[in-house]
Amino acid sequence: MSRYLSDKYQSLEAYTPGEQPRDMRYVKLNTNESPYPPAPGVMEAAAKEAARAQLYSDPVCADLRDALAQRYGMKRANVFVSNGSDDILNFAFMAFAGGDVPAYFPDISYGFYSVYAALHGIQARPVPLKEDFSIDPADYMNLGGFIVIANPNAPTGMALTRDQVERIVAANPEHVVLIDEAYVDFGAESCLPLVEKYDNLLVVQTFSKSRGLAGARLGFAIAREGVIADLERIKYSTNPYSVNRMTLAAGVASLARDDYNADNCRRIVKTREATVEQLRVLGFEVLPSLANFVFARKPGVDGGWLYRELKARGVLVRHFDSPRIADFLRITIGAEQEMAVLMLKLKEILSET
Ligand code: PMP
Repeated sequence: MSRYLSDKYQSLEAYTPGEQPRDMRYVKLNTNESPYPPAPGVMEAAAKEAARAQLYSDPVCADLRDALAQRYGMKRANVFVSNGSDDILNFAFMAFAGGDVPAYFPDISYGFYSVYAALHGIQARPVPLKEDFSIDPADYMNLGGFIVIANPNAPTGMALTRDQVERIVAANPEHVVLIDEAYVDFGAESCLPLVEKYDNLLVVQTFSKSRGLAGARLGFAIAREGVIADLERIKYSTNPYSVNRMTLAAGVASLARDDYNADNCRRIVKTREATVEQLRVLGFEVLPSLANFVFARKPGVDGGWLYRELKARGVLVRHFDSPRIADFLRITIGAEQEMAVLMLKLKEILSET
C-alpha cells in the first residue's frame, strides 16, 4: 500500500481469486472453468474482430444483446452485458444498495459479495446458512435491503427451486433481488421465467462456465427495462466499452452453437454424478450439487492439509479457510480423465495416512 491510497480504502480487503499457477502443469480443478474449449466458430469470429481492433467496440452491444434476447425470449431492453458477471455484480451493488439500503446475502457464498459491499461503503448483512448448508427462504422475507443470492450457491453447489426464489422476490418488492445464476446451466431451475412478473428481479448469468469462455470475460443480466436502464447508467458512468469487440463477437458465435454448449453441460453433469459416487465410496461427505463443482469433506481429515497434499501431487482444488467450511474442498468438475487423476491421487494420499 502506498501512502497515497484514499482513506476510504485503507481497510478494504480485496477478493482473492483462485490460483492460476505457472510453476507446473496442474490438473486444474480450482476455479470452476469448463474443461472444454469454446464452441466451433467462436475463435474465428473473435479473430475477425481482432483485425479491426483499432475501432472501439459497440457500446450498445446491440448484436449480442439481440442474440441473448432471442435466446431467452426477451427484448434487447431487458438484456445487459458487461465484462464478466463480476462486473455486473459490482454495478448492481453500486446501483441498488448504499446509503441506508444494506446488502443481504448468505454468510457462506461467493466471496466477492462482501468485497463489493466494502468497496462501496455498503452495510453487509450476512444471513447464516442452515445447519445443512442450505438457504432458508424464510430468512429472506421483508428484509428492507438489496438481496443477492447465488443459485446454485457457491461454494456449496446447492440450489433453491424457482418457487423458493419467487417467494423471496415477492416478499421484497421495495428492493432488487439479484439471483446470480453463474452455475444454473448444470441442472438448477433458472428464474428467468419470473422476470416478466417481477419489477425487482435481476438475474445474472455468465459465459464463463457453461459456455467455456471464462477468459473472454462476458456476463449478462436479464430484468425488466427499468433495472436494466439503471445498470446502463452505471456502465456509462464507468466504462461504456466494457466489452471488447472480440468478446462481443465470441458471445454471438457461442449462442449460435448453444447445442454444443448444452452437450458439454450434460457431459459435465454426468461426470459430476460419477465423481460424487466415487467420493462417497472414499468416505467423503458431498453436498448435493447442481453446479459444475462439488463441495466435499472427509470426516477426520483436515481440509487445508488435503488441499496441500493434492497440490503437491499436481491436482489443484479450492480450499476456503473460513468458519464451518475449513474442512471442505471445492472441486471443479473437469474432463473424465482429470477426475480420474483426482481419484487416483486421493486414494494415494488417504492410503498413506
Ligand atoms: N458468481 C459466482 C457465484 C461465481 O462463482 C463467479 C465465478 N468466480 C462469478 C459470479 C463471476 O464469474 P465471471 O465474472 O467469470 O462471469
